[in-house]
Amino acid sequence: MAQQWIYMNGNYVTKEDAKVSVFDHGFLYGDGIFEGIRIYGGNIFKCKEHLDRLYDSARSIMLNIPLSYEDMQAALVETIRRNEMRDGYIRLIVSRGPGNLGLDPERCPEAWVIIIVEQLAIYSEEAYRNGLVSVSVSQRRNIPDALNPKIKSLNYLNNILVKIQANLAGVGEAIMLNAQGYVAEGSSDNIFIVKRGIVYTPPCYIGALEGITRATIIELCDKLGYTLKEEPFTMHDVYVADEVFFTGTAAEVIAVREVDGRVIGSGAAGPITSRLLEAYRQIVEVEGVSID
Ligand code: PMP
Repeated sequence: MAQQWIYMNGNYVTKEDAKVSVFDHGFLYGDGIFEGIRIYGGNIFKCKEHLDRLYDSARSIMLNIPLSYEDMQAALVETIRRNEMRDGYIRLIVSRGPGNLGLDPERCPEAWVIIIVEQLAIYSEEAYRNGLVSVSVSQRRNIPDALNPKIKSLNYLNNILVKIQANLAGVGEAIMLNAQGYVAEGSSDNIFIVKRGIVYTPPCYIGALEGITRATIIELCDKLGYTLKEEPFTMHDVYVADEVFFTGTAAEVIAVREVDGRVIGSGAAGPITSRLLEAYRQIVEVEGVSID
């Protein structure tokens, strides 16, 4: 990528000039929302679903996005075009914007909209075949009546604390439980397990983001004839599962071969995980909003 152009409030600026105010409430308080979106072969994958989630998050935190839905989609398309990007990752951020040092959002007259487009490859193909090693961590998921994990907010400290525990354990992704001890999700991925041919994922009320990859995998299970159950489960169920995998926009569908020292299934990506990854990679190539 030659010059990286970043969308900031209607202007396109270079990486060097893309700066936010120290009075921005996204910076001061994590007051804002974001989306992580993929573009595959010039098509924005699940564009509507990502924008729906963004506008829902905004409504939930009473953040007024200064762009209409259509203008937001047009800004995404234009930013991708200017960066001559066909395959990559889009980070869409809406911050409450600059205010004063107090936390009152009413002192922030205008939300800031920022779009960053980048290259992305988080896992090697070998990791998709062999699976990740993972651990469960002591950090619990935010409880929904304190900060609902369905809001994709800029306040990711809960997730960062999980990531720190993952780093300390030397693993790429960790498993977080909710306050009642049920499996919630990873630091930035949803989780699925497979037992005796049935695919399970925790319901989002447990304390998980309503992942768009998660929803896509639920649809693919239906299409491929796998029974899918949204049911609470515990770490015991993870340990005895035949297959475990994480899903996310960046991670796609990544198998887990070991959790807390227990080998999962055959110790590599299982057949249902591999089939779902294959099907996922097929649809990302043909679906989506074209930038052309
Ligand atoms: N859970 C969390 C906490 C996340 O941040 C993400 C997104 N990175 C996901 C799950 C996966 O969501 P999606 O499939 O929409 O990327």
